[in-house]
Formats: sequence, C-alpha cells, structure tokens
Amino acid sequence: MRTQSTDILILGAGGAGLFAALHAHQLAPQASITVAVKGLLGKCGCTRMVQGGYNVALAEGDSVERHFMDTIEGSKWLADQELAWTLVTKAVERIHELENELGCFFDRNPDGTIHQKAFAGQTFDRTVHKGDLTGIEIINRLAEQVWARNIHRLEEHRAIEFIKTADGQQLAGVLMIDMRDGEFVFVRAKAVLLATGGGPTMYRYHTPSGDKSCDGLAMALRAGLALRDMEMVQFHPTGLLAGSGTRMTGTVIEEGLRGAGGYLLNGQQERFMHHYDPRGERATRDIVSRSIYSEMRAGRASPNGGVFIQMSHLGPENVRKAFKGMVERCADCGFDLAGGMVEVVPTAHYMMGGVVFAPDCSTELPGLFAAGEDTGGVHGANRLGGNGVANSTVFGGIAGESMARWIEQQQTFAPADEQAIAQSIAQHERPFQQHGQGLEEIREQLYATMWERVGILRSSTDLQQAQAELQTLAQGLHSVGLAQADRAFNLSWHDWLNLRNLIDISRVIAAAALAREDSRGAHYREDFPETRHLEQSAFTTIRASGDHLDLQWTPVQFTRVKPGETILQAEPAEA
Ligand SMILES: Cc1cc2nc3c(=O)[nH]c(=O)nc-3n(C[C@H](O)[C@H](O)[C@H](O)COP(=O)(O)OP(=O)(O)OC[C@H]3O[C@@H](n4cnc5c(N)ncnc54)[C@H](O)[C@@H]3O)c2cc1C
Repeated sequence: MRTQSTDILILGAGGAGLFAALHAHQLAPQASITVAVKGLLGKCGCTRMVQGGYNVALAEGDSVERHFMDTIEGSKWLADQELAWTLVTKAVERIHELENELGCFFDRNPDGTIHQKAFAGQTFDRTVHKGDLTGIEIINRLAEQVWARNIHRLEEHRAIEFIKTADGQQLAGVLMIDMRDGEFVFVRAKAVLLATGGGPTMYRYHTPSGDKSCDGLAMALRAGLALRDMEMVQFHPTGLLAGSGTRMTGTVIEEGLRGAGGYLLNGQQERFMHHYDPRGERATRDIVSRSIYSEMRAGRASPNGGVFIQMSHLGPENVRKAFKGMVERCADCGFDLAGGMVEVVPTAHYMMGGVVFAPDCSTELPGLFAAGEDTGGVHGANRLGGNGVANSTVFGGIAGESMARWIEQQQTFAPADEQAIAQSIAQHERPFQQHGQGLEEIREQLYATMWERVGILRSSTDLQQAQAELQTLAQGLHSVGLAQADRAFNLSWHDWLNLRNLIDISRVIAAAALAREDSRGAHYREDFPETRHLEQSAFTTIRASGDHLDLQWTPVQFTRVKPGETILQAEPAEA
C-alpha cells in the first residue's frame, strides 16, 4: 500500500468537487489540496451531462423568496428549510461567479440580460442555460481553472473506505484503489469532502454516468453515518428505449418535447395520458412516469416494453429545427423522432436522499464534509429540474471554504486506525480468493428487483420481496470470484465493487420505502396512495449497525414557513 498526505482531500470532480477545490484554494492558497476521482477530471460525473440548466432568481419580478417557495412546495414540505434557503440565496452569487470569474458563457436575451427558460414546477422562468449543453460549459470552465492552479489530481483513483482514528472520533483519511495498477493507496488528510454524486444506477433503466455506483453513500453507511430521505428516487419519464445491450437505453429524451405538444402513445398506439391527469402529457414528471408504468404493467407496452413518443403531427421540419440535438441522438440509434415514433421508458435519474449534513457542509464525523448529490435534505421528496447543478455548485463552494477554515485548527494529521485499513484491504481483495461465477447475472437480477419492486409503484408485498432478493444477491456476490488476477484496470473487480455498493444502498432505499406508509413526491405506495398531513411531516434516516439497518423518523422543522403559508408578499392590488 502506498501512503500520501494532503491537507484537503476532495472525492469527486463534478460541480461540487471542483467548486470546493477552487474555493478552498482561494481561502487557503498555501494548503495542499488534492482532487481524487474515479474517472478523468473534467470528463466524468453527471454535472457534465446537465442539459436543461441552472435555477437562479435573477430576473425582474422573480425573487429568492419565490425560488424558495417553489423548492419547498416541490419537496412536498420535506426539505430542510435552512438548506433550501442557502441553495436559493447562494445560487445568485454562484451564477455571477460562474460568468464573471470563471468565464462561462450562458445564452442571452437581445437586451444583454441572461436568458432564463421555463422548467417544470416553477412559478417563474428562472433556468439559466447554454443551449442544451449547459453542463459541458460549466465543467470545462471549472476544470480549466483547477488545472491552472496548484491543485493535485489523483485521476482514476477510486475511494473505497473512510478510515477513522482508532477511537472512531475523527476522520484520518481515505483508502483508495489506483485503478491503473490496482494498488491500494491510503491518503491521509485533515479534511475530506464527499462529493461522489450518488447516482441511482441500480435500476434497469437509468440516466447517470457509468462511473457512479453510490460509492460515497456506501462508504458513509459503512462509516456509521446517517442517510436521510433515501426512499426518494426521481424517475425521468422518457428515457430512450433503444433495446438491450446499448448504453443509449435509459438516456434522457428531453421534457421539452412533451411541452411542445408531443404525444405519448401506448403499445396499441393510443394516447393515454388524459386518463391519468387533465394536463395530459404536460403533467409533472412523477405523474407521467407512473402513468407510463401503469400502461406497461397493464400489458399495453410497445415491442421493447415501453411506450411511444410521437412528434410527427407537429410537422417533421419544425421538429427537426426545434429539437436538433434530440433528433440527431435518436437518428444515431436508428430512430426517426421527427417523422416517426420512438420508444421511451421511465428512467432512474436522481437521488434526493443522501448523507445528513449542515448548511456549512460539515457532517457528524469531524473532518468529513459533504456536498452535491451525495447529500440529503436540500430537495426533500422531489427535486426541481435545474436545482441539481445549483445544489452541487452552491454547496461545493461552501464546503471548500469550510474545509479551509477547518484545517487552520488542525496542527497535525490524525493517526489512522491501521487495523481498519488492513481489514478493508482484506475485504476488497476478497473476490480474488473466491471461485464462484455469475457477476453478470447478479447485476441483471439487481436491475430487475429494483425496477420491478422498488421503482415507480411500490407496495409492502413487493418491498418485502425485494428485501429478501437483495439479501440473496448480497450473499451471492460474496461467493463470486475473479478469474483474472491482474489488478491493473481490472474492470471485473470494479464491477464487483460497484455491485457491492449498489446492493448496500438498494437495501437502504427498500427499507426507507417500506417504512414510509404514505405517498409524496417521488415515492408512491399503491397500498398507501394518500399523502399524510403535511404539518406532521417527518423524514427517514437510516444508519447501519453491523448487518442491520436502523431507521428513525425525525419531524421536519418548519423554520421559515409552515404548510399552507407562504413567505411571499401579497401582490399590491391594481389601481
Ligand atoms: C442526463 C442528466 C441531465 C441532467 N440535467 C440537469 C439539469 O438540466 N439541471 C440540473 O440542475 N441538474 C441536472 N442533472 C443532475 C445534475 O447533473 C446533478 O445534480 C449534479 O451535477 C451532481 O453534481 P455532483 O458534483 O454532486 O456529482 P457529479 O457531477 O456526478 O460528480 C461525481 C464525481 O464523483 C466521482 N466519483 C464517483 N465515485 C467515486 C469514487 N468511488 N472515488 C472517487 N471519485 C468518485 C465521479 O467520477 C465524478 O467525478 C442531470 C443529470 C443527468 C444524469
């Protein structure tokens, strides 16, 4: 095992990780800062994939109070109001920083002001964007700035374990695998940021980047930290259904198509959305996902098991002009979006749940900070489109500052628990000593269990069945071995590690979903379809104790506004 030291260690190079690196460097330019990332810096994670844009209250007539109320209503009153307030107020500062300090170009109106577009669930058009490639603009500019500074990089390094001091009172560093040679690396650090971006890639259909497998959440769980709101997994209603065996299946076919008048047709080529919601295809993401899933389950699915989206009635030329990117993406997969029909299916998109953290990004483990999609509490039961990248950049910046202040008080590195390191290495090497087979089958079964039993429509019977299946999968995985013992870029080994983490976090999702006996936001129980009284809202937290998961309910503190109330001023009556 190699050993290294750094004052600040950042896990992940998405919006959260890169902003943290820049802000930490600004406040503590003499400190050694290291970004460790499973992929290549600037080329991985979901921030790069952001299409729609970034929510922020900038325009005349909009306000942070209005953005806050939209976020709280969208969260179905489950969000932590202090976190949501931090999100909406700091987003204003962050977007100016992105433009004026980091050099992002966003689309503009003819009068020179920033163009802001409409996104679902918002009472004001507040989504800042660069065409439909907003994430590439943000990540490219952030990466350039990180490269230009004296910030160290550990690329293709996979974080695997938080290592505490022997008394368990403080974080001492992080154990990693250098994926290029398969060596273990222990990085001692005074402050560590968890910013590995969650990612519900345990579902058969999913949108996030392939490098995400809930690693950070699983590490936090193993370290005894509490995860909140884990039952809340957001599905995007229209993922491309390009057949099995292609990574294009599950990728997003954008919401704007339905907004522009696109139809959803079932396998019998009939429109069905009006049977479920008077807004038809323009209903919110959760309702459209549930309706599509109900059609599929009722046996009215398209040949590959989804439904169709049709745009041709709007005129193929118009569609080609208005949705160039989407038309080309579908053509690449052999489908004619402008003139024909394309098969789509709901796809797992975002985890609202994550590590419990404070507005300054500290966690209950001294020395560990968290930001971005790995955290819980900002979005409650549902995330508004456009609030995801705002979340990662806002809290990433805050985390960088908090870590810079924290290391000032830490004179030395905390001593690591050597036994914990040895134990973790032994666990991670375990597949090399085993001979069982069937990694592929375990992955397919995990996809099926999560999609069919812990997905869009849930019930007590299904969730209990899922818990039993997940238990079997966990046991199965622990007998699977790796034929090829060369550790350099051993993708089977990393698949094994991915599956271990995904199964651990799937168990948490299933347990939280079984406990929540009401329906709200992204969580829908067929056996409890009503939403319970909002005034009595409580959120779930789960922590691991040995092989058991302990679940707790905590009442939501309505620190700024109570259900049924608003912080918006009444509009003055017209003269
Ligand atoms: C297709 C798509 C479109 C989206 N569109 C929008 C949108 O329009 N607006 C919006 O607000 N949000 C959108 N989102 C959501 C948004 O992308 C995320 O909310 C946000 O970018 C997450 O940022 P992050 O920094 O937390 O994680 P990410 O940007 O995902 O970064 C995670 C990083 O952690 C690294 N990592 C993972 N595991 C490890 C490990 N074990 N060790 C070391 N590094 C690790 C990854 O390689 C990556 O660098 C979209 C998401 C997708 C998938």
